[in-house]
Amino acid sequence: MTPVRLAICRTARAAARRAATTTAALQDDLTPAGVSWLKFGDDMVYCGAGKSWSEFKKNRAGCARAALHEHPSEVARERIHVVVQKGRLFQREHPEVPVLIDKGRFLLVDLEPKCARKIGNSDVPCFSVRPLDTLKTTRARGRHRIIFDVLPRVAARAARAAADPVIQGLVNRISRQSYEADLTRLVQFNTRHSTRPEFAAACDFVDQQLANLGYATSRQSIQVNGSPSQNVIAIRTGSGSVSRGVVLVSAHLDSINHEGTATSPAPGADDDGSGSAGVIEIARALKDHQGKHDLKLVLFGGEEQGLFGSKKFVASMTPAARAKVRAVVHMDMIASLNSASPTVLLEGAALSQSIIDGLSAAASTYTGLMVQTSLNPFNSDHVPFIQKGVPAVLTIEGTDDANHAIHSARDTLDRLNFDLALEILRMNTAFVAEALVRT
Ligand SMILES: [Zn+2]
Repeated sequence: MTPVRLAICRTARAAARRAATTTAALQDDLTPAGVSWLKFGDDMVYCGAGKSWSEFKKNRAGCARAALHEHPSEVARERIHVVVQKGRLFQREHPEVPVLIDKGRFLLVDLEPKCARKIGNSDVPCFSVRPLDTLKTTRARGRHRIIFDVLPRVAARAARAAADPVIQGLVNRISRQSYEADLTRLVQFNTRHSTRPEFAAACDFVDQQLANLGYATSRQSIQVNGSPSQNVIAIRTGSGSVSRGVVLVSAHLDSINHEGTATSPAPGADDDGSGSAGVIEIARALKDHQGKHDLKLVLFGGEEQGLFGSKKFVASMTPAARAKVRAVVHMDMIASLNSASPTVLLEGAALSQSIIDGLSAAASTYTGLMVQTSLNPFNSDHVPFIQKGVPAVLTIEGTDDANHAIHSARDTLDRLNFDLALEILRMNTAFVAEALVRT
């Protein structure tokens, strides 16, 4: 075991935006060899031992614009793990695990490696536990890691890319009235548990809505732990010929109540009624925006039991079909405001960096969203795509604080923030509209 000291540098929000532009190279200059840094959104976390740690603290003492809080005791480096959780589901299940850093979706915890492997091995995608050293870095640098990043908001109008009038027109179609009506209908099914008849009824509703908008709909049968369930798929063919690609927009239609049984109330308003109604709303906004590429809309089943719907969907694609996918924009929980300003987290992997960039640009041009990014994909339907080399990004509400209501009867409409959801839908609509016509 290697004992190390940890210190957190909490920057004020304004300073954090400036710090967000700090390059990895500059951070390297500020930290001596032997001290590593992690970026957790607004917080910088430093980790080191011995002489280099004393040197680091001495250097920081002179120039500390923001205070450095040293963790009171040494921690064994091997025990430091990064948890990515949905809402507070890791902490709800494992209140005994000491949390070193708490950034909502992202935690740094002190956990015995054997124990971490055991609790992280569960296939149910509520949380994941990874040893610090196995994480991918945003920029490929050995000892430094950006767990997630806060992108600077482009405040000055002049500095933003000018809005394209056609795209702006499509973005303006995003309507609270129709979105709220669809979401309200979805929440009215007592549950959308993947293997219940109510889920099948919800599939019928979504299928009908998309068919009414002119999309060709179909179903894909799936198995969820041995019981039948399904995905709903809708498509509008693009006008391109040989080089035609596919832009895919998705969410998971199923819900779950972990405090009860399959028949307990599971309204799933945020998780993931908000994303499912979002797929319909984007389909509505883009219903007559035929681009070069195919627009495919997918509502997955079996997500809550272990990504069964998306795994089957990706597995059933031929390599040629996978290669045609230009972007997957997935929505899972987009309507709970957990931070002072409306924030979206864009979570992908290195292969989806251009989608993250495109979504960030769309957010800055067409919305007032704060954007966070992460290249550590976990816990939702974007993961099976990424694992098979298909560029996918999860768009999810920012979780500086947390959503305590999901996976229970408390995930209800009255907790939602429609303004946040509509902003995320505008960002996604702008990105998808552009992606459909791009050569
Ligand atoms: Zn979900």
